[in-house]
Amino acid sequence: MSDYLYVVIYLDNNATTPVDTRVLEKMLPFFTEHYGNAASRTHQAGWYAEAAVETARERVAELLGCEKQEIIFTSGSTEAINIALKGIAKAYEAKGKHIITTRTEHKAVLDVCAALENDGYEISFLDVDREGCVDAAQLRALIRKDTIVVAVMLANNETGTIQDIAALSEITHSNGSLFFSDTTQAAGKIRMDVNELGIDVCCISAHKFGGPKGVGALFIRRKNPRVTLLPWMHGGGHERGLRPGTLNVPGIVGLGAAAELAMNEMWETNERISRLRTFTEQFLTEDNLERSSIERGYINGCIKSRLPNTSNILLKGIKAHELIKRVPNIAISTGSACTSADDAPSHVLRGMGLSEEEARACIRISLGKQNTEEELLEARQALRNAIDELQGRTQ
Ligand code: PLP
Repeated sequence: MSDYLYVVIYLDNNATTPVDTRVLEKMLPFFTEHYGNAASRTHQAGWYAEAAVETARERVAELLGCEKQEIIFTSGSTEAINIALKGIAKAYEAKGKHIITTRTEHKAVLDVCAALENDGYEISFLDVDREGCVDAAQLRALIRKDTIVVAVMLANNETGTIQDIAALSEITHSNGSLFFSDTTQAAGKIRMDVNELGIDVCCISAHKFGGPKGVGALFIRRKNPRVTLLPWMHGGGHERGLRPGTLNVPGIVGLGAAAELAMNEMWETNERISRLRTFTEQFLTEDNLERSSIERGYINGCIKSRLPNTSNILLKGIKAHELIKRVPNIAISTGSACTSADDAPSHVLRGMGLSEEEARACIRISLGKQNTEEELLEARQALRNAIDELQGRTQ
């Protein structure tokens, strides 16, 4: 640990967030005092744990606008996506083997689709435009009688672009297919209601909004339509047989607490951090969000419909990894944490039509509720100095 580089300013909140101390306080007793197994039916320790799990289930249901019976707990979004898409594929095989998704999904969805393709399913991809948005007309053209599910994320993890999910789910339902949405980056950050959006199945992950890592949830609609998933994991029958295994009670308590805080504080947090984002973006690009007056760079994603915390900026003539090396005390990224180990340029930015060189010139800054104005003032100045050097603007 002695070589561990202490990060002074953390601006990579789409990768993960710190656990809110109020969430941690709620979790701690469930490690030591209330350590019962939520599936133990014969004593108070079990009942107490079960009651805490059910309270958390209610909080998550409130966050998504659904019934608590429609929520199962998982180890996070990746597991939830596996349970959902593989579960749908198995359950609806008789209807067909066609799945539609987008090129800019997270790897958790793309890799599951690739695995299903190996198993004989056919995957069609919706393109996105330069802002990362899907075209509803293309969905109408691609959808078929044997399409079992359409999977489109609500908000993109790299650019923050928010899709018009209500329009896409309507087309999907009128074809008799199911609509899945990876809502990992949206849940806890923006208000979302699965009924208004017409989502049949979606996933969330606690560590993206002030909760602990390794815990998440899956929403599975129970009526209009009732969704059936076939389990592909077995053992013990927990969580309606879809996610067997002893429940992570402290984690689930943390997820519920983070959901409650998010609901109560979302408006205020977003108002503050979107202001911090604007002043950071303007300072770094000098373009006032007008693409016609681009000097240093421009903002990737849909300016009119974006997560309030996410900023993906193309900085002309620089290589993002060189910029990042010059500001070791600032934690930002070149894209998704899950793919930053491989050197390939972002598939999201490439999918939006950026060239390989352009995609390598982009940084992602993602703010969290703990970030302060002082931090952003310091970070934007340090970034600007480094950008000036790399763009050859130093006097
Ligand atoms: N989907 C999206 C859009 C994400 O951003 C992430 C996390 O980076 C995941 C899925 C995977 O979530 P988890 O870390 O809970 O497995």
